[in-house]
Amino acid sequence: MNELPRLKPRNMSPGKIPTQESGIVIKKTVCDICNPNSHCGIDAYVKDGVIIKVEGTVENPHSVGTLCAKGAASRQYIYNENRLLEPMLRTGKRGSGEFKPIPWNDALDMIGERFKQIKNTIGPESVGFFVGYPKWMRPYVKRLTHSFGSPNYMTESSTCFSATLMAAKLVYGSFGPPDVANAKCLLVWSGNPFYSNSSIVRKLLDAIDNGLKIIEVGPFITPLTKHATVHLRLRPGTSGALALGIANFIISQGLHDQSFIDDWSVGFEEFVAYAKRPSSMQPLNLRLCGPVPVPRFIIPMPRKTTVRSFPWLV
Ligand code: SF4
Repeated sequence: MNELPRLKPRNMSPGKIPTQESGIVIKKTVCDICNPNSHCGIDAYVKDGVIIKVEGTVENPHSVGTLCAKGAASRQYIYNENRLLEPMLRTGKRGSGEFKPIPWNDALDMIGERFKQIKNTIGPESVGFFVGYPKWMRPYVKRLTHSFGSPNYMTESSTCFSATLMAAKLVYGSFGPPDVANAKCLLVWSGNPFYSNSSIVRKLLDAIDNGLKIIEVGPFITPLTKHATVHLRLRPGTSGALALGIANFIISQGLHDQSFIDDWSVGFEEFVAYAKRPSSMQPLNLRLCGPVPVPRFIIPMPRKTTVRSFPWLV
């Protein structure tokens, strides 16, 4: 494995305060390019209504002056010449790429007429509303969807955070972020906080310095790999087998909290049977990209081995 540099956010210091004569003012704002859990603080240097520079807001308690590559490129994002700033009406055949700009009122009238026509002839359920990023406009689109009469409100979250949220609500009753600062061991499963959650990296590195152990699960070598005690480098598509194997191991060793399960869960016996299924235990279901060192703090087994060596795990 290639040696990766020890990454740590640099000590942040505020940018040079522009003088009054420069005409530059610093506007405090937030980046909304990615998820609402981030919304990193931005100091936007504005002159004559144009952003000339962005920096992370040092006093923002969440991002503490850090911005990821996307946030740091906010100017390129905002002023990109390919960005759509007005409605475009297709003038050629579908796929021809021929469009002309039209006024907002004309576009809204056309869309409204079309919606009414579809609603009256086919029914409101035949229209689906899909929202992507950023997320700030989602409540309004959801309201529009339901007031139109369609149940078909969709976002990309069904393949993203919604699964995490639903699992947390079903298991704990509500969602709570992990207590990284007080954790002894953190399982990072198919995640890359250095690229996708850079605002927690500072807290993560501080916790590692204080003894936090990282188990990384995922096929890629990431900036986190350097800090991981174990990297379970699975082949894509096999992590379900690992999850069931771990569940099976925990249950068979009696490491689970039976009273919690008795009080708060349903379907445990079915899950036990599911995790024990021979198809979950097939070694072929879990293939690693290479040998994995498994240190003692995870399982009391020889240090240098592979997950395939543990029939109880696969
Ligand atoms: S993590 Fe990056 S993209 Fe997301 S809010 Fe922060 S700076 Fe913006």
